Amino acid sequence: MKINIMHLYPDLLNLYGDKGNVASLVKRLEWRGIESEVKEYTIEEKLDFSEVDIIVLGGGSDNESIQVAKTLQDYKIQLKEYADNGGVILAMCSGFQMLGSYFMVGDEKVQGLGVLDIYSEFDSNRILGDVVIQPEFSKLPIVGFENHGGRTHIGSYSPLGRVIRGTGNKEHDLVEGVIYKNTVGTYIHGPLLPKNPQLTDFLLNGAVKNKDENFELSMLDDSDEIDAISVIVDRYNN
Ligand code: GLN
Repeated sequence: MKINIMHLYPDLLNLYGDKGNVASLVKRLEWRGIESEVKEYTIEEKLDFSEVDIIVLGGGSDNESIQVAKTLQDYKIQLKEYADNGGVILAMCSGFQMLGSYFMVGDEKVQGLGVLDIYSEFDSNRILGDVVIQPEFSKLPIVGFENHGGRTHIGSYSPLGRVIRGTGNKEHDLVEGVIYKNTVGTYIHGPLLPKNPQLTDFLLNGAVKNKDENFELSMLDDSDEIDAISVIVDRYNN
C-alpha cells in the first residue's frame, strides 16, 4: 500500500501553514508502516490525477486564490469525477470556497470548480475566532480557528460538523464546512490535522479503503491530542 498525496500549489496557498496538514497525513501513515509520497505542484505544471489518493488544497490570499481558481478551471471535470468517485479531498479556507460554483472576493465574482453545488458570498465583517464543531463520523469534536469574510451556503450537503462554539459557514446556520463522500471543505485554518487526528484518520481511511476495501487502519495512541481537545472543549463548557 502506498498513498499518493497531491498538494496543490503550496507556494501560493500556504497562508496558514497547510504543509503541516500534509505532514500529519504522512506521519500518521508512517506510524502505521504505510508508505506515502507527496507531490507538490506549482501552477505551471500539468496535473496528473492517475495515481492520486488524496488532494490537499489550502487557503491563500485573495489574489493567489483567484489565480488558482482560474488555473484549475482546466481540471473541473476531472476534479468533479474524482470527488464523485469517492476520491479524498481536503480543501481549506479559500480552497473550500473554490469547491463551489462561485465565490465572492469583495465585489468580484470568481468562478469556482463546481465540484460541489455550494457557493460563497462575502461580507467585510470577518468571522474570526476559535471553533469547536461536532462531526458525525467521530465522537471527538474538531477544534480550530476560523478567519473568513466568506459566507458559504452548503444547501442540502452535510456539514463537516455542527457548531458548538464559533460561527462556521455563516451566521445562524450553526454548521461548519462541508462533507461529501470523501471530500471535506472547512474554514478551519492552520494546524487542522495535527490537532484533530479523528479528521486525519477519516481522510486516510477513505484513501486506504479506495485502494483496498478490506484494509483497516491500525489504532494509534492519540491520548495527547484527545487531552488537548478536552482542554479546549472544557474551556467553553465552564
Ligand atoms: N479570503 C477568503 C475569506 O476571507 C478565504 C478565507 C480564508 O482563506 N481564510 O473568506
